[in-house]
Amino acid sequence: MGESPNILLIEDDEDDYLLAHDLLSEVFGNQLRFEWANNWQAGLEAISSRKHDVCLIDYRLGQRSGLDIIRDAVEQGSSIPFILLTGQDDREIDLEAMEAGATDYLVKGQISAPLLDRAIRYSIEQKKVETRLANMARYDELTGLANRTLFRSHLVDCISQTKRNGKVGALLLLDLDNFKDINDSLGHPAGDLLLKEVSVRLAEGVRESDFVARLGGDEFAVIATNLNDTGGASVLARKIIEEMVDPVNIDDWDVFTSTSIGITMFPQDSADPDQLLKNADMALYHAKNNGRGKFQFYNAELNARAQKRKEMEADLRQTLEEGGFSLHFQPKVNLLDGRVVGVETLLRWPHPEQGMIPPDEFIPVAEVTGLIVPIGDWVLRAACAQHAAWRDEGLPPIPVAVNLSAVQFKSPGLMDVVVQALGDWNIEPTDLELEITESMIMDNLDLTTEMLHRLHGLGVRLAIDDFGTGHSSLAYLKRFPMDCLKIDRSFVRDIVDDPDDAAIATTIVTLAKHLRLGVVAEGVETESQLEILRRQGCEEAQGYFYSRPLPPKDFADWYRDYQRRIEVQPKTISMIRRAAAGP
Ligand code: C2E
Ligand code: MG
Ligand code: MG
Repeated sequence: MGESPNILLIEDDEDDYLLAHDLLSEVFGNQLRFEWANNWQAGLEAISSRKHDVCLIDYRLGQRSGLDIIRDAVEQGSSIPFILLTGQDDREIDLEAMEAGATDYLVKGQISAPLLDRAIRYSIEQKKVETRLANMARYDELTGLANRTLFRSHLVDCISQTKRNGKVGALLLLDLDNFKDINDSLGHPAGDLLLKEVSVRLAEGVRESDFVARLGGDEFAVIATNLNDTGGASVLARKIIEEMVDPVNIDDWDVFTSTSIGITMFPQDSADPDQLLKNADMALYHAKNNGRGKFQFYNAELNARAQKRKEMEADLRQTLEEGGFSLHFQPKVNLLDGRVVGVETLLRWPHPEQGMIPPDEFIPVAEVTGLIVPIGDWVLRAACAQHAAWRDEGLPPIPVAVNLSAVQFKSPGLMDVVVQALGDWNIEPTDLELEITESMIMDNLDLTTEMLHRLHGLGVRLAIDDFGTGHSSLAYLKRFPMDCLKIDRSFVRDIVDDPDDAAIATTIVTLAKHLRLGVVAEGVETESQLEILRRQGCEEAQGYFYSRPLPPKDFADWYRDYQRRIEVQPKTISMIRRAAAGP
């Protein structure tokens, strides 16, 4: 005689009750735990107490059928296994019983004690497995939080709830700012630990009535209801961001993380769950753009911008396929002898309807969509091809610089593209320079250091672009195989009137000399700017003062003309200036 589960019998016929009781006593003896409900109302009440392990239920219960009661109970969230007891053996009823949610079906006249015992044990076991499977389908295995499926159904419920009670709800979408780096550098087990800790902090940081889910990867969602306005959502977002400030200790490492949050309110922003997710995602994208650990509410303007971005993406893809991009080239000039020491390649998008779209507008879109990788590859190859074409025209080999995007820099194929481009056009590696920004280097030190050394190992020159605007630690500069710094245009612009800018430029020049790096001033437009830079010891300059970026043919013309002018009397500085200023 085994231990008895807690059994509920819903049965309105007293004779049948006695029969069942006898059989159960035969199985469980005085261990039997048993309750009888003699009508369907009492039965439902007993089920809702949730203290039973299994329920035997009669097929006929006065006006109602046992199947209806099972359906009602399931609807109310009961997960008790039901065994339906019927008067007749009928395949139809059997099927119907399964559909209603019963785990088994017994014909009253044919029940024996062992049969009943087996049915009870089997039903309880089957229900356990079902519940586990259902949980797996609704909960995230790693963190135990609700998964996307459960999140979505809960969101649907919350939306209708706010519609009923006139309150507002907020959907917060969270994304860890540096998860990929942590995962890459410390490994997946560490990444998993971080996700677990984040979910604990999230669950502890929100109210009991708030709902936390992990939607996948490092993306989490919080649903808050019963808010009066957006104020409550901002408070919650701030609190969550604050929760992430303390480092997480993983294998004795203090790992710092932070989260960005996109927020959308319902029902006002939308009452459609999919639309709300899109809104929050859009807001999250903007929050991330504003730096780490920020939150952003969805608004209609974001929507318009996102729409524009989508159209631009399709446009970019088509332009790439049709070979519709072009390149302009801007000379860099040595300040001592006036020689042209190279050109910078600048990407242009001549749009059939919108005219020339500046790179600052379309490159960020190409970056988020990943299109920058094939576009950047094209730029690199086209720049090399142009270098070779000028050489074939009889010009001396003009070193050509190409801007790299962070996304491209991290893409594994970059080395191959460089090696192949150099080979295809038979270019001296020192005639190719790659411009990268400080933030690209600082983003993922291990990976970038290796990449920089590999590129430099080819003999390719490396320059840091827009120097002074990033936040590189100067100490790191020494560790990288750099050849040159380009002083950002913003310091050159006011160098004449603003002593602070002049001081920064001087510092960069001194620093570059100290580290034995070349230094180029960007965006030089006037002779007085040039004069100051020269006095500071800056070696090279680039800017409208010499030439705007030009299409290949115009550049070749400009170059020949410029060479002619400086070669007439190359020795005096005043001649160079006059040559630069034109006839
Ligand atoms: P950048 O690499 O710092 O390029 C210099 C920018 O300054 C160019 O803008 C150039 O036209 C502009 N410039 C040069 N001299 C002067 C001047 O005297 N005054 C003023 N006001 N501006 C001057 P552009 O061509 O609009 O390019 C903007 C940025 O777009 C570039 O900044 C670079 O970061 C990015 N970019 C351009 N081409 C590419 C490319 O092929 N790949 C990638 N990843 N980025 C590119
Ligand atoms: Mg550049
Ligand atoms: Mg620059």
